[in-house]
Amino acid sequence: MSRYSVFSLFRHALSHHENWQKVWRNPTPKDVYDVVIVGGGGHGLATAYYLAKEHGITNVAVVEKGYLGGGNTARNTTILRSNYLWDEAAHLFEHSMKLWEGLSQDLNYNVMYSPRGVLNLGHNLQDMRDIERRVNANRLNGIDGEVLNAKQVQEICPLLDCSERARYPVLGASWQARGGVARHDAVAWGFARAADSLGVDLLQQTEVVGIRRHEGAVCGVETNRGFIAAKKVACVTAGSSSLLAKMVGMELPIESHPLQACVSEPIKPILDTVVMSNAVHGYMSQSDKGDLVIGAGIDSYTGYGQRGSFPVIEHTLAAICEMFPDVRRVRMNRAWGGIVDTTPDASPIISKTHIPGLYFNCGWGTGGFKATPGSGNVFAHTVAKDEPHPLAKPFSIDRFHSGHLIDEHGAAGVAH
Ligand SMILES: Cc1cc2nc3c(=O)[nH]c(=O)nc-3n(C[C@H](O)[C@H](O)[C@H](O)COP(=O)(O)OP(=O)(O)OC[C@H]3O[C@@H](n4cnc5c(N)ncnc54)[C@H](O)[C@@H]3O)c2cc1C
Repeated sequence: MSRYSVFSLFRHALSHHENWQKVWRNPTPKDVYDVVIVGGGGHGLATAYYLAKEHGITNVAVVEKGYLGGGNTARNTTILRSNYLWDEAAHLFEHSMKLWEGLSQDLNYNVMYSPRGVLNLGHNLQDMRDIERRVNANRLNGIDGEVLNAKQVQEICPLLDCSERARYPVLGASWQARGGVARHDAVAWGFARAADSLGVDLLQQTEVVGIRRHEGAVCGVETNRGFIAAKKVACVTAGSSSLLAKMVGMELPIESHPLQACVSEPIKPILDTVVMSNAVHGYMSQSDKGDLVIGAGIDSYTGYGQRGSFPVIEHTLAAICEMFPDVRRVRMNRAWGGIVDTTPDASPIISKTHIPGLYFNCGWGTGGFKATPGSGNVFAHTVAKDEPHPLAKPFSIDRFHSGHLIDEHGAAGVAH
């Protein structure tokens, strides 16, 4: 795989950019792999990359029923931050944040990581107390964070209505300057290209329809293209995780819900940070091409349709119009939904299972994009060594029996 650089750009310009090699191969499935990863979203692809890069396991297939990065990875609003409340979550998300900081160089692919800062607004006294508690906890964990008053928020984001007349008064916010956004597709493509170049087979249009076992242990997956044998099967299928678990008679503590987002027509730059409000279930940033990227809270019913209901998106847009009156006349271009895999404590499951050779990485719910590199990194360790990475240990599925829950509803349940 040739490296992307200014020199290769120049070299290819001489042949009118007609000879760029394909970004990844389209291989025929082998009969046997050491590891089959089910799900070619960002997390599955990152797992494959770190398995190959850090553990030297390259006889790996990523089996994806649609196209790479076409699930929640393609549908999310790309907010990155690590200001989670509890130590376990804060360490995990901060691990990811550190990987984001060098990811484009590591993958030799521009993931458009943009640390433009994230504001989490407080609209009443209790919001502000929660914000203070969370920022204090973050700082004790070595994570950057500040509590801002309304005046400071207004300076960072002049577009936001911080006046006393505002329908949702702004009392202040938490501010994580290192937070921001990255380009979702580029993250999937960057991990895919890097994994492929290390020998991982990326099998698109290949749906897992069954998981085969021999004497209790996993021995491979049934797919629409035939049986593929594997000593280890790692499921990274987000909203479809319960369906995979059902194939081996397991029940996961996961509910799949629609989560919606929308983008406006592209407009000139007006917003250079990310503004989130848990209280009104709405948040907004502006993409590099100018769209206002707006996200909602989850629809309360469960389902596998990649679309949500009108009242949720209507409520979100009403709140956005109140918070940002200047954008009221901007037209919306597209709205869509993903299927998010929510757990009772709003924390992920990164875990071995009671079935030898079967692993799950799921439950990221509304906020897993920011974790993509970190999740892949710790899950690869868990799969390669058959024991949890120290950062993944608290996120074992056993916590739902032991009661050691990591309740991040305040930090992750609504906003992303
Ligand atoms: C509208 C929306 C906004 C969001 N905003 C944010 C945000 O701002 N910040 C943030 O951090 N997170 C956000 N998220 C959450 C984030 O998108 C997800 O947590 C994350 O992308 C999950 O990545 P993944 O790779 O685990 O899942 P996915 O990208 O969904 O990948 C799973 C893959 O598994 C495949 N699959 C499923 N079943 C099978 C099968 N049987 N066989 C083969 N393949 C299968 C699917 O086709 C899919 O491609 C948002 C989500 C949504 C929907």
